[in-house]
Amino acid sequence: MRTKIKQILHATTPETWIGKEISVAGWIRTVRDQKSFSFIELNDGSTLANLQIIADAKITHYETLLPQMTTGASVRVTGKLVASPGKNQALELHASHMEVLGLCDATRYPLQKKRHTFEYLRTIAHLRPRTNTQGAVLRVRNALAFATHLFFQERGFLYIQTPVITGSDCEGGGEMFRVTTLNNFSDPTKDFFGKPAYLTVSGQLEGEIMACALSDIYTFGPTFRAENSHTSRHLAEFWMIEPEMAFADLKANMECAESYLKFCIRYVLEHCREDLEFFDKFIENGLIARLQHVVDSSFAHIPYTQAIEILKKAPKKFEFPFEWGADLQSEHERYLAEEYCKKPLIVTDYPAQIKAFYMRDNGDGKTVAAMDILVPKIGEIIGGSQREERLDRLEEKIRHHQLNREDYWWYLELREYGSVPHAGFGLGFERLVLFATGMENIRDVTPFPRFPGHAEF
Ligand code: ATP
Ligand code: MN
Repeated sequence: MRTKIKQILHATTPETWIGKEISVAGWIRTVRDQKSFSFIELNDGSTLANLQIIADAKITHYETLLPQMTTGASVRVTGKLVASPGKNQALELHASHMEVLGLCDATRYPLQKKRHTFEYLRTIAHLRPRTNTQGAVLRVRNALAFATHLFFQERGFLYIQTPVITGSDCEGGGEMFRVTTLNNFSDPTKDFFGKPAYLTVSGQLEGEIMACALSDIYTFGPTFRAENSHTSRHLAEFWMIEPEMAFADLKANMECAESYLKFCIRYVLEHCREDLEFFDKFIENGLIARLQHVVDSSFAHIPYTQAIEILKKAPKKFEFPFEWGADLQSEHERYLAEEYCKKPLIVTDYPAQIKAFYMRDNGDGKTVAAMDILVPKIGEIIGGSQREERLDRLEEKIRHHQLNREDYWWYLELREYGSVPHAGFGLGFERLVLFATGMENIRDVTPFPRFPGHAEF
């Protein structure tokens, strides 16, 4: 039976493992040859740390195996766990038997000891999960996904799957990928679905259908945007978590979003300590303190109009202009979060003209019940709103946005038959991973990043 390295190195009482005969399997990270034996650092991905293995002549066929013990080779090792005299680990494995499962030509293997740039590692996405950084990213990402389900399930939200292929170009705009089986696009009625179809940019509208029957739901799935942006915050394919709550207003929405973010951060602080310490040391100094601060502080609340006033008074030159009625750029968002508030903040009540048609009118003729959560380092991490539940107002909005009423017939019927106040938000999962790890580029926190010109793996 194989033991995962995490079980051994993260044991609450390592002493109980001493003297145990176990079997582990993994990839060799490094080999240090001493006179009569070798130290092998073995990693199986279950945890950041390597298990130290002492390989000496006691191993059957040692002489034959020795040249095969190279960086990158995969091995299965059996032996006895002993207390380690070294100060880096409590236990090490004294090998009695080793099987080389897959040889690795150390002269060609790209992951030699020296550090590679993240740009280079993206070109070897089939090997980069074997690096410390990528392993840590993927373990934290996994924990954040699990925490997401825990949070919403504990609150009684139902996990709903909304379609990836959609016939409704729901948020308007030309940022959608077309899905087609045609070679010639001139007649969409001949296409697979008898009409144009796209990859979804959001599951929200379908999420509203579900909330208007089941009360509280969330989606967690892939989302696609064909925006040609070359930033460190945008991907063409990313994962989004979109809760939708019936009988809820903007206030309830903000409470849910803040609690959710804090829950996730608290979860990784508790369950991914080793990986976070690695990020704190090598990626962002002070990361753990920054995350602890997020958990401990209550988010600031600033209406959009006031945010514009704050930006006007800011002792700082911005590259992009801003004025009431324009969308905030990432530099403005980051100034508000990093320098002005020094913690996450929720900007509310945006001008109607820059927000989607479905957001609820505030009644002042200018603003809607929108909320964006802005965090240090990232800027926008969550965008949400209370939805317009009044049929006449929604129809007016659809006209005003020059959308086609027929395309929204079912969305309007939700307001016709038992309409309820409801609200929800969308969180970009990769932005949460960036936030939690301190990584700089969104392309390095998703296993197979899709961005303009890149869909290799
Ligand atoms: P931005 O202004 O940063 O481009 P947005 O306002 O277009 O974002 P929304 O439509 O509000 O984004 O989507 C909800 C959330 O999804 C955002 O708050 C963000 O966390 C995430 N998100 C949006 N676009 C992308 C993208 N291209 N790649 C990764 N995450 C994204
Ligand atoms: Mn947004």
